[in-house]
Amino acid sequence: MVAILETPIEFLKGVGPQRAALLRMELNIHTYADLLLHYPFRYVDRSVFHRVSELNEELPNAQLRGVLGPLRTLGEKQGRRLTSSLTDASGTVPLVWFKGARWLHASLKPGQEYILFGKPNKFNGQYSFAHPELELAATWEQGLDARLQPVYNTTEKLTAKGLGSRAQWNLLKTLVPLLQGQLPETLNPSLVQWLGGVSREEAFRQVHAPQDQLKLDAAIKRLKFEELFFIQLLLLKQKQELQKHVRGNVFRHVGDHFNQFYNDHLPFELTGAQKRVVKEIRKDMATGGQMNRLVQGDVGSGKTLVGLLAMLIALDNGFQSVLMAPTEILAQQHFATISRFLEGMPVVVRLLTGSTKTAERKRILAALQAGEVHLIIGTHALLEDRVVFNKLGLAVIDEQHRFGVAQRARLWAKAAVPPHVLVMTATPIPRTLAMTLYGDLDTSVIDELPPGRKPIRTVHRSDHSRNAVFGFLEEEINKGRQVYVVYPLIEEGDPAKMSRSGAGGLELKDLTDGFESMSRRFPLPKYAVSMLHGRMDQATKDYEMARFKKGETNILVATTVIEVGVDVPNASVMVIENAERFGLSQLHQLRGRVGRGAEQSFCILMSGDKLGNDARARIETMVRTNDGFEIAETDLRLRGPGDLMGTQQSGIPELRIADLVADVDLLQQARQLALRILDKDPDLNDPENANISRELAERSAGRPVWGRIS
Ligand code: ADP
Ligand code: MG
Repeated sequence: MVAILETPIEFLKGVGPQRAALLRMELNIHTYADLLLHYPFRYVDRSVFHRVSELNEELPNAQLRGVLGPLRTLGEKQGRRLTSSLTDASGTVPLVWFKGARWLHASLKPGQEYILFGKPNKFNGQYSFAHPELELAATWEQGLDARLQPVYNTTEKLTAKGLGSRAQWNLLKTLVPLLQGQLPETLNPSLVQWLGGVSREEAFRQVHAPQDQLKLDAAIKRLKFEELFFIQLLLLKQKQELQKHVRGNVFRHVGDHFNQFYNDHLPFELTGAQKRVVKEIRKDMATGGQMNRLVQGDVGSGKTLVGLLAMLIALDNGFQSVLMAPTEILAQQHFATISRFLEGMPVVVRLLTGSTKTAERKRILAALQAGEVHLIIGTHALLEDRVVFNKLGLAVIDEQHRFGVAQRARLWAKAAVPPHVLVMTATPIPRTLAMTLYGDLDTSVIDELPPGRKPIRTVHRSDHSRNAVFGFLEEEINKGRQVYVVYPLIEEGDPAKMSRSGAGGLELKDLTDGFESMSRRFPLPKYAVSMLHGRMDQATKDYEMARFKKGETNILVATTVIEVGVDVPNASVMVIENAERFGLSQLHQLRGRVGRGAEQSFCILMSGDKLGNDARARIETMVRTNDGFEIAETDLRLRGPGDLMGTQQSGIPELRIADLVADVDLLQQARQLALRILDKDPDLNDPENANISRELAERSAGRPVWGRIS
């Protein structure tokens, strides 16, 4: 980086140690560079004027031109305030200040013409301005200020210490000229030309002090592009390096296990999408590189089977495979499903989780090390050091984003040659996010559900219609169906979840109350209700889950422990209590627990009457569509990318100016252009790309080559 950019912010004229401390604390601005990248979040067009008679509450801000009235100090002590007014041809509006009276008295000139800028308030039917910005019309006209005025993020503390948006702007107006000639170009000449010829330096100048709307738009586009371009370039470069340096096991054969299973054991035809993805996987594993593939498929699209077929290919080539699931219940279920699929085949499958008994664990670990176990299924427990493989060739990871980066990296250590990695996620990721997050992975999409599935009918019911809902459940149960009732219980001691749930979660008591009221409404011996939550011991959980699976209970009252992957085809009704407390992707996951059998399935979203806008939008989206990708896009719009993926392990690069929702097209273009450049000049040796190469080196400094992958 250019040295001047690393200058501590306190040395900028007008800052000093105290304000610097404040800027560091409140805005994380430590250096000149940080200030330069502190972009305005909007602009106000100060060439547009309002008249006093036009004021209304819809206006976020109004700009008036008029004559300042006399200054008066009113009230006593706490209620003391300075008042005045502004008069234009259409009327007069009162002004009031609760602070700074002495300074204002000294500097304001009643009787002169002023430009006023501020937010109109309505009080007792009359409009007024509190603490408006005022500038003498004569000064304003000298055109020292841009007409398009940037507005910067500020905080109460900053404003109180005189570092509000306008003061920040002044700092930037000091800084930007200082940096003249010190902001080297980062793009190559043809990209700059493609961006309308806006140099980097010009872009910063315009963004912090725009001359006009056209120049501003071009500057913003240039800076957004640059941000997205280098993220893509970095990802693509990492992928390139990986392909160049990491040799993978070559799975040349598709042999007996795969064929025997495919021909004799598969109870149904694969969907077209499943076939396509299996083909992609086969190709990856046969080429000599290491597979790093993400398979996205909506709930119920049949990802397990795709994973199993990949594991059989590994076996045909003499390698072991591991299948990791995020929860114990899910691991058990995968084990059961896969064991059933493989019945009668000479494939040894074992389950290893945190609750595997010691003696059993020892046996499994010994067999695994001896190469006698072909597929091992389990949870995080599989990552422990004592889990040693004989010849690990493939890792299938279900529900990817629940695994931390570090955890995934531990898998690499378990084989001489890095295993192929297949990541499966049922939470469709919006296109833009996938490109940014997994730009270095290959992706496959299973975009087709097995035939014969009936779309789930989703309705929204208020707590008042509880009786009608119970009546409906009774009908369905009497037809032989089973019902899930899910509560948004937040586990104690899970601060991440607590903070995300905002208002705080429900208590275990809500769940047990729900269970009791269900048990009263659906009493023994005619009906049976079971309960499942994360704090039960494993044996009880297993017992309850098994009872429900076997159809011995009609209703399962549960927390989100049943969220992922649980498969009970006869369960056709999903009731979600306090649906407003769930995120969209979680609602979609939960709904995916039904609709797995031949019967028409239902999802009933229960909520109170009062809903916030976002909660309402989430529920409406669920009612409108079953399409996981559409739901993911909406989720991204509502929550923003950080929240969507969970902040800690999201791996989403911080975007300062670009926006993954609004700038889809630009992102697409940035990726295409980055690809094209790397295609022509893989090592960025061409002098034309010198800028790009230098900037990339700076940005990737300190990043491990395969930092984020599996
Ligand atoms: P998910 O993608 O949500 O993990 P699963 O792998 O659990 O989906 O599959 C959902 C259900 O669909 C399972 O019962 C599975 O056996 C069944 N299934 C998978 N593929 C097909 C297919 N091609 N035809 C019919 N049923 C299928
Ligand atoms: Mg699954």
